[in-house]
Amino acid sequence: MKVYKFGGASVRSAEGVKNLKYIVEDERNGLFIIVSAMGKTTNALEVVVDHFMAGRRQEALKEWATVEAYHATILEGLGLSAGEKSPVQLAPSCVQKLYDDIRAILTNETPTESEFEKWYDAIVSYGELVSTSIISEYLNAAGVPNRWVDMRRALVTDEKFKYANVDMDASTVKLREAVAGDSKNPNDPAPQIFIGQGFIGATPKGETTTLGREGSDYSAAVVASILDADSVAIWKDVIGVLNADPKIFPESTFIPELTYLDAIELAFSGAQIIHPKTIKPLQNKNIPLYVRPFGDKMASGSVIRGEIAAPIEVPILILKRGQVLMQIRPRDYSFVLEEKLGEIFKIFETYNVKVNLVQTSAVNMSLSIDKTRRLDELTRALEGHGFFVTRDEDMELLTIRGYTELYLERYSRVPGIYLAQRTRKILRLMRKAGTPAAI
Ligand code: ASP
Ligand code: MG
Repeated sequence: MKVYKFGGASVRSAEGVKNLKYIVEDERNGLFIIVSAMGKTTNALEVVVDHFMAGRRQEALKEWATVEAYHATILEGLGLSAGEKSPVQLAPSCVQKLYDDIRAILTNETPTESEFEKWYDAIVSYGELVSTSIISEYLNAAGVPNRWVDMRRALVTDEKFKYANVDMDASTVKLREAVAGDSKNPNDPAPQIFIGQGFIGATPKGETTTLGREGSDYSAAVVASILDADSVAIWKDVIGVLNADPKIFPESTFIPELTYLDAIELAFSGAQIIHPKTIKPLQNKNIPLYVRPFGDKMASGSVIRGEIAAPIEVPILILKRGQVLMQIRPRDYSFVLEEKLGEIFKIFETYNVKVNLVQTSAVNMSLSIDKTRRLDELTRALEGHGFFVTRDEDMELLTIRGYTELYLERYSRVPGIYLAQRTRKILRLMRKAGTPAAI
């Protein structure tokens, strides 16, 4: 068994879906395909959620209608809708059923703010449900028989809505059931190709959960681990892993091989190659992870695995945007480190805020955190616990792994740096968004 994962950018158009077919059509020895929502659908669904939570039903339904219209053009491009009447009405019945379900939620349910995360998951998961339904339908029609797997019945998670964690033991039972043939009916053996949604699962009670933005990679890794796959490939619109995002840093180079540890550090620092949670399930079973170019089926891309022939030699640059620099100081001058550390981190956990960097002095703690919707609430909670809090927003965190003197010079000796942290191997700079390097 192999696992392939296709992200939203790859399947954003009918051409993309056709290319997916071209990539998978010869794989007849067991393939599990994980797919994200098409294009920017998840972002659009987040807007739907915002309207819905604020009680703006009409706006929510209107935004949802744009999502349907977008999928209608893809369905049309795939020859799955006749296009004479409203294409939306002519969506395949499995897709139509999903449309009916979400419209019913948006029309009939009245959410409360305290259940924001739960509603978020209930709504945003439709991106993946719709995309996989369309692709499964298309592949079946195009002579690539496959089974659509509802990952809400295959991956069991905890109840941490919006950031759920997979329960591996419970999911092992369910997912293996989902890929098994019908043992009572020998004429119904297990198919060779499965297609399931990335990013989603369900609690033991069956309530839909999501695994955190960009979580489809994690889904692919979990599936690979449970099914003891030989390998995972993430198909992306890059040639493989690069040492820097070429859109931000002009001189980027290709890295053919990385260790799991390299990959974890890169992902944690904000490299957009893979979701940070992806590596652990693979490392546990020593399953290699390929990052392959969607546009070139024959190229092998980069591989991430336990052992590599030669260590990476170029510095790696990672920029994490949308950061807030938060400084926390206890009002009573008690030392941050010994007495308050646990308390502070507990509060961060309560508000689901991701901490990316920590630096402490005698009475002061500085953190780089992701900018989230609960920032004000978090600040108030900290103040309620007796801390002074200051915030600098509009920040970014630059990590340079394997930096050299030259890089140190270029990136840290410029105005706009608020905080620097350095080990022998890694340089991390918190800076005002858009701070350039010295030339
Ligand atoms: N569709 C989800 C997102 O955009 C999950 C993913 O793409 O991995 O975050
Ligand atoms: Mg995506």
